[in-house]
Amino acid sequence: MVKVEMSSRVRHLPPYLFAEIDRLKQEELKKGVDIIDLSIGDPDIPTSSHIVESLRKAAGNSRNHRYPSYEGLLSFRQAVADWYRKRFGVGLDAGSEVLSLIGSKEGIGHIPLAFVEGGDVVLYSSPGYPVYPVGTMFAGAEGHPMPLFEKNGFLPDFSAIPADILKRAKLMFINYPNNPTSASAGKDFFSQVVEFANRHNIIVCHDAAYSEIYYDGKRPASFLEAPGAKEVGIEFHSLSKTYNMTGWRLGFAVGHRDVIAGLGKVKSNLDSGVFQAVQEAGITALETGDDVLSGIRDTYQQRRDALYEGLKGIGLHAIKPEATFYLWTKCPEGFDSRGFARHILEKSGVLATPGVGFGAPGEGYIRFALTVDVKRIKEAVERIRKAI
Ligand SMILES: *Cc1c(COP(=O)(O)O)cnc(C)c1O
Repeated sequence: MVKVEMSSRVRHLPPYLFAEIDRLKQEELKKGVDIIDLSIGDPDIPTSSHIVESLRKAAGNSRNHRYPSYEGLLSFRQAVADWYRKRFGVGLDAGSEVLSLIGSKEGIGHIPLAFVEGGDVVLYSSPGYPVYPVGTMFAGAEGHPMPLFEKNGFLPDFSAIPADILKRAKLMFINYPNNPTSASAGKDFFSQVVEFANRHNIIVCHDAAYSEIYYDGKRPASFLEAPGAKEVGIEFHSLSKTYNMTGWRLGFAVGHRDVIAGLGKVKSNLDSGVFQAVQEAGITALETGDDVLSGIRDTYQQRRDALYEGLKGIGLHAIKPEATFYLWTKCPEGFDSRGFARHILEKSGVLATPGVGFGAPGEGYIRFALTVDVKRIKEAVERIRKAI
């Protein structure tokens, strides 16, 4: 019998803050409660049939049954470059400035291995995607959270970063449109980021997973639209949210060629790329007409309006999102985020995510995801009304 001991990097993982909510959910389910789950950022809408059909065809091609190329099919990377030019007016060289990923989470988790080590600092926005600090810790570097506050429009305040931290900072994660706060950032902010990165020699990793889930026709900008952005960093992107393809595991990174090369080097030593049939379906997805995408956006907009108006109507302060499918909502007086999540789960069977689970600056908020239909959203609001 071997004595199994976890490495310190696994022992040092932050406690699983959703464990308590998970346990309570299981208890409520056992009691037969009809739970309305607004806690998960995973679209309930199926992948469009033209994309599924494309996979079906590509899966039958024996050329796709062998190991894929590490950096991704050139045709997929070219489709990404074409999409960037069309969508953002940004030019990319498919051969050196685009890398396919097994979902963007994979790239985000691995990139610190390429550029930081003990003694280095990684800046990351908080509340935020938990992979930023975990990837940092796995690479042996020190994470420094940049808190996002409502009074700053949920943008980080670079002037608040201590000088000794800044001296050691080598990499930075930011994310707009933002999960969980739903805030968007404009080109002005991205230009500030470019200037800051140049001044302090920091590689920027911008996570743009939600750029296509937007409302009222206000299309979010790409970080790469800021002048000089391609000289300071990269953008992570994903087909998961845009095309309802979370299960397919397909994303990509674009931008600074040396940063792309560094991430590619780590990956070629760890994984063997994305199933080519999935990449071929990805090309089909990226060529999807705006009629399909605007239909998806309309669905989310109806849900957003129902939940935003509903929460407002019962006296809760929610941030009205211009993008993403989340409503970042203030907990009422007398509740912290875990307490409020527990309260509405036990009293109304509505499940939401406590903000503190995304980092300490998320305390005082709760996140609702728009991944159920309008009828269920209205029912959730009515139940919460009775519970508070
Ligand atoms: C969903 C999400 C991703 C994308 O994950 P995939 O691995 O591409 O499915 C990346 N960043 C954030 C903030 C997300 O919420």
